[in-house]
Amino acid sequence: MTIPWRRYGRLSVILPVAATLVSSVLLFGYAMRQEDEAVLRTFQDRARTLASAVRVGCDSHLEILISLNALYASVPTVSREEFSRFVGRSLSRHPGIRGLSWNPRVEAADRARFEAEAGTPITQRDPHGQRVPAAPRAEYVVVRYVEPATDQKALGLDVASEPVRREALSSARDTGLIAATRPIRLVNDGADQLSILLFAPVYGGGTVPATVEERRRQIRGYTTGAFRLQDLVETAIRDLPRDGVTVALFEDRAPAVPERLYSDARWTSRKDEAAGGLGWREPFVFGGRSWEVHVAATPAFEQRYRSWSSWLILLGGLLFTGLLGAFLYVVTSRTAKAEELMVLRTADAQVSEARTRDILEHMLGGMITFNEQSRIESVNPAAERIVGYREEELIGRSVALLLADAPAGDPERFLRQVHRKAIGRVTELWGRRKDGEVFYTEAALFEFAAPEGRRFACNFQDISERREVDRLKSEFVSTVSHELRTPLTSIRGSLGLLAGGVLGDLSPQVRDFLLLAERNAVRLTALINDILDFERLDSGRIEMQCTDVDLQALFEQSLESVRPVADEHQIALLSSPTGLRLRADGARIVQLLINLVSNAIKFSPPGREIRVWAEEKDDDWVRIFVKDRGQGIPASYHQRIFERFVHVETADKRDKGGTGLGLAICKAIVEQHGGRIGVDSELGVGSTFWFDLPSAAGREAMSERAN
Ligand code: ADP
Repeated sequence: MTIPWRRYGRLSVILPVAATLVSSVLLFGYAMRQEDEAVLRTFQDRARTLASAVRVGCDSHLEILISLNALYASVPTVSREEFSRFVGRSLSRHPGIRGLSWNPRVEAADRARFEAEAGTPITQRDPHGQRVPAAPRAEYVVVRYVEPATDQKALGLDVASEPVRREALSSARDTGLIAATRPIRLVNDGADQLSILLFAPVYGGGTVPATVEERRRQIRGYTTGAFRLQDLVETAIRDLPRDGVTVALFEDRAPAVPERLYSDARWTSRKDEAAGGLGWREPFVFGGRSWEVHVAATPAFEQRYRSWSSWLILLGGLLFTGLLGAFLYVVTSRTAKAEELMVLRTADAQVSEARTRDILEHMLGGMITFNEQSRIESVNPAAERIVGYREEELIGRSVALLLADAPAGDPERFLRQVHRKAIGRVTELWGRRKDGEVFYTEAALFEFAAPEGRRFACNFQDISERREVDRLKSEFVSTVSHELRTPLTSIRGSLGLLAGGVLGDLSPQVRDFLLLAERNAVRLTALINDILDFERLDSGRIEMQCTDVDLQALFEQSLESVRPVADEHQIALLSSPTGLRLRADGARIVQLLINLVSNAIKFSPPGREIRVWAEEKDDDWVRIFVKDRGQGIPASYHQRIFERFVHVETADKRDKGGTGLGLAICKAIVEQHGGRIGVDSELGVGSTFWFDLPSAAGREAMSERAN
């Protein structure tokens, strides 16, 4: 069965789950961006600091050269000593300086004089790197002074003899600015260490001439610095934090590929830098060359400076989504199940209600339900037929309306009595139809729990006809009995007289026969008396003469009359004193008690005791008990023994005598008082007969209330 809500049920899981999933992803994205920005900011701060430190480091080296240049510009001749002193300080303070030198221009005409003065020939390197006397040229730029002292062997070298240096020299001379060479490897340095040479032009007039021609003419020489790039850069950034970043210095040679001047140990390749990582480039001009500091973040940088909270958010979001999904799934499937169950139950309930209605409609017995206030709530068609009212005429009205014996004024007490009599058993009552006709009915009352509270149902049938037949039968029996009683009495009398030998002596055999006949006549008379008694009681022809009676007196009277028989059977009769009073027909109650106690004696072995007592049940009723320790009654007989002529089948089949009407008469007496009778018994242990009678106190209380 596909029920539409199933789809909604699924949607009610999917939608919130999708919403939280999307929210978590969005939140993740947002947090990620924030983190990216934070990482970028940290990187940029660090990179900017490093890059400018590199720049400043480079510039500060330029300044050394500038100040040396200023010295030459202001002093016409600088001696070797003066030179050494001047540069010595700078050398010790700047580890990046490989060496500083003074290289004057020497024209071809001055070569011999210069060589004599300097004490060293002007040399150049041959293709094998060997120093050889410089080839004749128009002019030379010769190393005259050089520091540190270890570089003295460079003295006399014509710097302009090498193309790289010559290019920088020309540029310095023509621009009047400091010019750097391309990176070169100096003879004394290792393979990794690149250096540059910076040439600062010194002109004859001390200042930089205005035109290129004048500059070319007036050029006097060059102060020169050799700088180791690695030492230079590393000194500059030595004290700065560098974890997670790598630094390199490039020379831009567009359109050719930039040349790497320096890189730290973490620098792997330019490809890494380009591959989406964080990077920073700071171009600057150094000695007329375009340099660029590159700072790149290594993977460690991100690990170190990313908070990763975005991933936590995503993880948390996914977890939450999962849990939410599971929770909603469980809840909706439970709800779905509950709803499904409810639908099924409702359907079931409808089916069973329809079935119940069907049964009620078609049953032959009448069925009336009413509430605790005896207000009628439903009436089935059979009941409508029996009482002659339609259901709608009865709903909301009191059940008393249908009971012939209900007193018009205050039917409550009466209803309570009827209720007590009929609940859980079949009982006979007088009913009244709509047209006022009284009918005899057999009714059973039962209680049930309706959703709206305690309810009662009365199942009844009209047994007027059956009762009429019964009445005719009983009448016939009582007529016959009555007719039999008089002749039987005279027969019994005659037999007694005969057996007594009043009419002459008899042989013992004849006498025995006569005695037997007399005993049977006595039993027959008793039976006939019982039958007549029962008929009169049962048909209600004997009116109960109810007065206030003292129960204790009734106990005493009853026990007194059976005591001889009890003594004969060696049975003790005990009664608990009672102060209770009854509203009852005293003579009938004595008859009832004698019947029960006689039975108890009859079915108890000698030496046992019989106990009689009473208890107040509630303010209206008294329950009286007769308890023996005799043979007991099997459970299957507990109801039936109150019917006429029922005897318990015993194993020994011993006839205890008795008409089988005693308990039926007892029941009729109790019911005539509106009460109930019953027995609790266990085989071999004993029986306790009990019956309820209205108490005098209850009646007083009722009438007091009525007043
Ligand atoms: P009867 O007049 O023959 O005793 P009752 O109607 O008084 O008839 O009793 C019916 C039957 O109930 C008895 O025959 C007996 O089997 C059983 N009975 C009655 N009272 C007792 C009792 N106190 N203990 C055991 N059985 C009993």
